[in-house]
Amino acid sequence: MNHNRKILIIGASIAGPTICYWLKKYGFNPTLIERSKQLRTGGYAIDIRGIAADIVKKMGIYDDIYAKRTSLLSTRYVDADGQTLSEEHGEKAGFREGDDVEIVRGELVNILLKAIPDVPCHFHKEIISLTQKDQVVEVTFKDGHIERYDLVMAADGLHSSARGMTFSDEDCQLFNLGSYISVFSIPNYLNLNRIQVLFEKDQKLISMVSDKDPDRAFATFAFRSKKALSGIANEKEQKKCLRDWFCDLGWASNKILDLINDSDDFYFDVMAQLKIDSWTKGRVALLGDAGYCASPLSGQGTSLAIVGAYILAGELKSAEGDYSVAFKRYNELMRPFVDANQDLGVWVGESFLAEGEVSKEIIEQRSSVIMEKMKMAANAISLPDYV
Ligand SMILES: Cc1cc2nc3c(=O)[nH]c(=O)nc-3n(C[C@H](O)[C@H](O)[C@H](O)COP(=O)(O)OP(=O)(O)OC[C@H]3O[C@@H](n4cnc5c(N)ncnc54)[C@H](O)[C@@H]3O)c2cc1C
Repeated sequence: MNHNRKILIIGASIAGPTICYWLKKYGFNPTLIERSKQLRTGGYAIDIRGIAADIVKKMGIYDDIYAKRTSLLSTRYVDADGQTLSEEHGEKAGFREGDDVEIVRGELVNILLKAIPDVPCHFHKEIISLTQKDQVVEVTFKDGHIERYDLVMAADGLHSSARGMTFSDEDCQLFNLGSYISVFSIPNYLNLNRIQVLFEKDQKLISMVSDKDPDRAFATFAFRSKKALSGIANEKEQKKCLRDWFCDLGWASNKILDLINDSDDFYFDVMAQLKIDSWTKGRVALLGDAGYCASPLSGQGTSLAIVGAYILAGELKSAEGDYSVAFKRYNELMRPFVDANQDLGVWVGESFLAEGEVSKEIIEQRSSVIMEKMKMAANAISLPDYV
C-alpha cells in the first residue's frame, strides 16, 4: 500500500479518533483536527452496544471504558406529583445487556484520544474550503494555511460543515423527526444518588440523573412539536422555548427551569436524521453523525460511529488505498446497518412522547419492545476481520 496515505480527519469526538486508530494501525498517515479549543469533558451519557463493543475490544480499550462506565443503580418513572410509577434496576433500564456499556461522552473521547498517541491532533482548527482536484483534495484552513491531502474524512457531526462543502442540498436531507431535545447540568438539588428519574406527559419528557458526582445532576427536556419551530436560533430563545413548553407541566419542571441559567453546558437541537444516498463523493467520505445520524432517540449513534470508522478504515486497507473500491464497499456494507438503526430511531421517537399521561403498563411494555429492537439493530451487521 503506497498511495492515498495522507488523510485529513475532521472532528475529534467518536468517529474521528476511532478511524485514526485503525488508519494508523494499517499504515496510513491520518491527521486529526477539531474545532473546540480543547477536549470537552463531561456531557451526556452514550452507549456502546453489540458489535461496537467487539470493536473497542479489538482496539484494546474496552477495559478502560468499562472502568469509567456510568454506575446508575436504577431508573424511575414518576407522575406529576413525583409518585413512582415504575422502577427498573441495573443495566436493563438503559436497554443494555451483555458487554454493552454506557459512559459519559467526554470520558470516551479522552480514552479514544489516548489510544492514538502517534496521530497529530490539532484542536481549535477548522477548514474553510475543500476543493477536489484530480489527485488530491486541497484544503484551506481558517488560519489561511493551505494543505493537500489524498483523502478527507468528515466526522464533524450532524451539522457537518465539511459535508456542506462537498455535497449539495439535493444530495442530502436533514430529516426532522418532529421533536426537540435539550440537555444541561444543574446542581443536584433533589439529592439523587446514582439514579435517573423521568417524568413524561403530553408529549413532553423531563429527566434528571445524577451519577458519580453527587453535587451535579444532568437534566434532559424532550418534546414533540407538530410543526418545525422558529425563533430558536440562539441560547436565549431556546431557553425561553423550554420555559414556554414545560412551565407548570408537573413534578420538578418549574424548579429545573429556574436553574437553567446556572448551566454552563446548555445544549438544544432538533432530533433529526441525515438521509443521503452515498456517504462518499470523490476523495471525501462522511462518517458518524455527519453521514448517518440516527438521532439521540436511537441510542445507537455512538455505536454507528465506531462501526462506520472500523469499516471505512478496514476497506481502505483491503483495497490497498484504492479509495474508489474502498468507498463503494463502505457504502454497501454500512447501508443495512444504518437503515436498521435509523428505523429504530424513528420507532423510539413514535413510542416515546405519547399523548396524555403514561402508565406503568405502557412504560414496561414499551421498554421490553425497545430492548428487543435495540439488540437487533446493534447487531445488524457482520464485522469483516481486516487484520
Ligand atoms: C443529547 C444527546 C444525547 C445522546 N444520547 C446518546 C445515547 O444515549 N447513546 C448513543 O449512543 N448516542 C447518543 N447520542 C448521539 C451521540 O452523541 C452521537 O451519535 C455521537 O457522538 C456521534 O459521534 P461523531 O463522532 O460522529 O460526532 P459528534 O460526537 O457530533 O462530534 C463531532 C465533532 O466534530 C467537531 N466539529 C464540528 N464541526 C467542526 C468543524 N467545522 N471543524 C472541526 N471540528 C468540528 C465537534 O466539536 C465534535 O467534537 C446523543 C446525542 C445527543 C446530542
